[in-house]
Amino acid sequence: MDKGVWIIAEQWNGKLKRVSFELLSRARRLADKLGEPLSAVLLGHQVEEAAQELIYHGADVVYLVDHPKLFQFDPDPYVSCLERLIHEERPEIIVAAATTTGRTLMPILAARLHTGLTADCTDLDIEEGTGLLLQTRPAIGGNVMATIETPSHRPQMATVRPRSCKPSPRDPFRSGKVIVKDYPDELFTSRFKLLGLEKLREETVNIEDAEVVVAVGKGIGKPENLKWIRELAELLNGAIGASRAVVDLGWLPYPHQVGLSGKTVSPRLYLACGISGAIQHLAGMRGSELVIAINKDPRAQIFKVADLGVIGDLNEILPRLIQRLKSLEVKQG
Ligand SMILES: Cc1cc2nc3c(=O)[nH]c(=O)nc-3n(C[C@H](O)[C@H](O)[C@H](O)COP(=O)(O)OP(=O)(O)OC[C@H]3O[C@@H](n4cnc5c(N)ncnc54)[C@H](O)[C@@H]3O)c2cc1C
Repeated sequence: MDKGVWIIAEQWNGKLKRVSFELLSRARRLADKLGEPLSAVLLGHQVEEAAQELIYHGADVVYLVDHPKLFQFDPDPYVSCLERLIHEERPEIIVAAATTTGRTLMPILAARLHTGLTADCTDLDIEEGTGLLLQTRPAIGGNVMATIETPSHRPQMATVRPRSCKPSPRDPFRSGKVIVKDYPDELFTSRFKLLGLEKLREETVNIEDAEVVVAVGKGIGKPENLKWIRELAELLNGAIGASRAVVDLGWLPYPHQVGLSGKTVSPRLYLACGISGAIQHLAGMRGSELVIAINKDPRAQIFKVADLGVIGDLNEILPRLIQRLKSLEVKQG
């Protein structure tokens, strides 16, 4: 019988990526609801320490495949190893990250295993009574939230966006089991040859890691007014986020975009300035700890998710807010 909840951990040069801990945190809830163990799959080379870390962060079992050919992500050996492992262990549910790695691996795997896959989920849960995985994601151009089930095929597979939940905490006293899988060399063959790695030049904006995001929408009126947003972001030591409307107008480049077709952020403070709060925008910022919204329309959707709403004109509020923050800075020395 198919049993257990799995996550596919991600690592870079032997160091686990934050998203691995986010997956553990999400999947722990599912495993507990089902009363089944939570396992992590770790593929890499010389990653034993990372396997232990996964246990500290909530995995009951870690399936470890260690091979020089797994040093960097390569779809061929990664998929072959996972397929073999899944056939051997028969998990009930597999959750991976909607990263380049997860988005490459999971569709190939789902096709090979003849099962379904729901990509880019914003929520996962277990259905009372049936124990089925409820996979929720925006659908029909992001205008509705659809909850999808995989009733008759196994495993049930889903990807979730990075930063859409908090990472699981580390407990160095947790214990678990690392199961090392030794596979024959033919499983590690690849059609690809890695020629080199180059950092993406346009990715200089790191809004995903920022503790404060000052986000701007079309309500800012004109690109010249972005000076207030820049000043505010600097005063709050934050990064600048943008709605798609602002990016489409060419006022800010795409790496700033928050939302369904942009980035997902979960800062401590999300300050939304002149953003209406369309469902596609909310999909990228819902995990923020504190949301403050400024909008002149009291019926704007953004107020439904805001902890603090300021109804008013940005042209008046932003200069005054900047002034106030500057005076606080002076007072604090
Ligand atoms: C498939 C798909 C994917 C999408 N992906 C994304 C995405 O990733 N991210 C995203 O953001 N959107 C996305 N969208 C677009 C989304 O539906 C909205 O169109 C967009 O978020 C609107 O941006 P906005 O809030 O800046 O603009 P608007 O909706 O035009 O809102 C502007 C707001 O500013 C307020 N305002 C105007 N003037 C002032 C003022 N002087 N002072 C204070 N407030 C003022 C208005 O009251 C209004 O609420 C997507 C749409 C589709 C169909």
